[in-house]
Amino acid sequence: MFEYDLLVVGSANADLVVGVERRPGAGETVLGSDLALHPGGKGANQAVAAARLGARTALLARVGDDAHGRLLLDSQRAAGVDTSGVLVGGAPTGVALITVDPSGDNSIVVSPGANGRLTPDDIREPSASTLLAASRVVSTQLEIPLETVEEVVRGLRPGTRFVLNPSPPRELPAPVLAACDPLIVNEHEARVVLGADAGATPEEWAGALLALGPRSVVVTLGEEGALVADASGTARVPAVEVTAVDTTGAGDSFTAALAWRLGTGESLADSAAYAARVGAVAVTRQGAQASFPTAEEVAAV
Ligand code: ADP
Repeated sequence: MFEYDLLVVGSANADLVVGVERRPGAGETVLGSDLALHPGGKGANQAVAAARLGARTALLARVGDDAHGRLLLDSQRAAGVDTSGVLVGGAPTGVALITVDPSGDNSIVVSPGANGRLTPDDIREPSASTLLAASRVVSTQLEIPLETVEEVVRGLRPGTRFVLNPSPPRELPAPVLAACDPLIVNEHEARVVLGADAGATPEEWAGALLALGPRSVVVTLGEEGALVADASGTARVPAVEVTAVDTTGAGDSFTAALAWRLGTGESLADSAAYAARVGAVAVTRQGAQASFPTAEEVAAV
């Protein structure tokens, strides 16, 4: 009945990465390595992660009519993502300008570009409504305007599951919170969404987040795994032990995998356990999209 297991509504960025001996201070120029250019953005990453696992996936996003936009469309199509919902034009493709020093610390400037022009009107277009109606699960993040996420929530059909990773985090309106099943946060996002009275433990954050209205909550805890919570209770999901080499994209691959598995009817705890295996494989490899595993690779861990 559903044409897509997962529709991701979100950002697509070109990541421009330069290695430096020392990140520059104000007024300073430093010379760096050759430029590396990677497809990124949380929306684009999630769509690639889900498609690589075998989920029938579509992306609703906006890119510029430029080389970065074409790079992003190519990487989506190579992973098997349906890009009929990717709008082109209106502003340059979003970019993240990233400098990384030898210790791995980075400085990042993001120009949202076309991501900031994905508007509520775009979501009301018939083509977008068709995608929303054809998708079992809809996943969003906050690298697109919050009003656009609110319009996605208004456009959800009964029976469609909504998943939100509020990154970058901010306070969320009640109707968006109420639609989340689950709200997926890491520690930093939990603290920002909760504000002053976050509590001290992941269990306390999950309880406080549930009290804001989501039907379920997942707190990701890096190498500590994750915690799932809903009306039936709270449970820890252990991490898979691996040697991490690059944690970029771990949260995106975890969220995509969780959203897909939930749509298949799996329980929250089982979906999170699967997602933890996906995140674990992703951290054993360099990069974001390049690190996302296939279902066969997940089965092997
Ligand atoms: P984010 O990237 O959003 O901060 P996390 O770092 O919490 O998200 O990672 C998401 C998930 O990926 C975790 O819940 C965990 O299951 C898995 N993961 C992340 N880092 C590791 C690690 N070092 N070892 C094993 N699993 C990991």
